[in-house]
Amino acid sequence: PEAILVSELANRMAERVSDVVKSLMQMGMMVTQNQTIDADTAELIIEEFGHKVTRVSDSDVEDVIKEVEDKDEDLQPRPPVITIMGHVDHGKTSILDAIRNARVVAGEAGGITQHIGAYQVKTESGTVLSFLDTPGHAAFTSMRSRGAQVTDIVVLVVAADDAVMPQTVEAINHAKAANVPMIVAINKMDKPAADPMKVRTDLLQHEVIVEAMSGEVQDVEVSAHTGQGLEELLEAIALQAEILELKANPDRAAQGAVIEAQLDVGRGPVATVLVQNGTLRQGDIFVVGEQYGKVRALINDKGERVKEAGPSVPVEVLGLNGTPEAGDVLNVTETEAQAREIAEYREQAAKDKRAAAGAATTLEQLMQKA
Ligand code: GDP
Ligand code: MG
Repeated sequence: PEAILVSELANRMAERVSDVVKSLMQMGMMVTQNQTIDADTAELIIEEFGHKVTRVSDSDVEDVIKEVEDKDEDLQPRPPVITIMGHVDHGKTSILDAIRNARVVAGEAGGITQHIGAYQVKTESGTVLSFLDTPGHAAFTSMRSRGAQVTDIVVLVVAADDAVMPQTVEAINHAKAANVPMIVAINKMDKPAADPMKVRTDLLQHEVIVEAMSGEVQDVEVSAHTGQGLEELLEAIALQAEILELKANPDRAAQGAVIEAQLDVGRGPVATVLVQNGTLRQGDIFVVGEQYGKVRALINDKGERVKEAGPSVPVEVLGLNGTPEAGDVLNVTETEAQAREIAEYREQAAKDKRAAAGAATTLEQLMQKA
């Protein structure tokens, strides 16, 4: 509910109405017991009286985990999150691997990186970039449809020997719909048949005007095989990120999105989470989709155990009671009871929805038969 009667609020807290009215007056609100106050004010009063908010309805659940607006002075720059898209076989995986091998392994003892669905690299000029290692349009759109917008920048890969293909167009449409800026990587430049100009003119027809055609979309010629242009691509991303002025508040309860999750034989349910705001720490209690848990361990993209993960950092999270789904949102809560309550509420809501959908089909089938 967006508003509540003062008398009703007092009643629910089992406090005297006059005390609640007095408290409201002290907050500068002149109201009588028969007037309503908004949910935020109610929450303050509830806390003032040392009670906990009990959530009964959908909007109450969302209230608990609603975005607490960050003050400007609390915001700090965060790395951009990049998704690579493009037509099949144009080299998405090859580019992701080439970037990781060139930038991550260098300077790291051992050099073997673990696959956790996302990784961070540093450009030569020192900008940290977070790559989602789950290329594919399905992942991008299903995340978006689940309310998790995790991508800040799309790198559109187009093979120079093949130019624009159906899934290239699909990727352009996804990026446009999500309002995410694009950078074009013209790949396979090492091939004799490479024709980057054809790529650029093809793109024009889809209203993607690259810089080489006097447009605003950065385009970089690359080869995942020879490594040509990859550093330039990273710097182009860093430049785009600078323009976006991406920020987050590391000093708050963490919120993140599940990139992928699975049930691991030895470790139980494991989710790779991209922290989007706040800092996730070992010991934090959280709800994630219909699951909840307490962070038992955090493992970074290099396979190392870490104590915490800040904004735009991908980490594996151990300590879940069940396996969430990609695109599920993770929120740290204050108490385990709260986390469990929200998880159970969502589970029930999902069941109800499925049941309603089931009933609808049965009804539809009946109508068709009649
Ligand atoms: P994806 O489907 O977009 O992930 O494409 P892949 O990364 O799997 O690449 C498809 C094929 O193109 C593979 O055989 C790669 O070895 C090859 N390939 C990718 N990048 C390059 C490149 O820069 N040059 C050449 N010659 N081949 C490439
Ligand atoms: Mg691939």
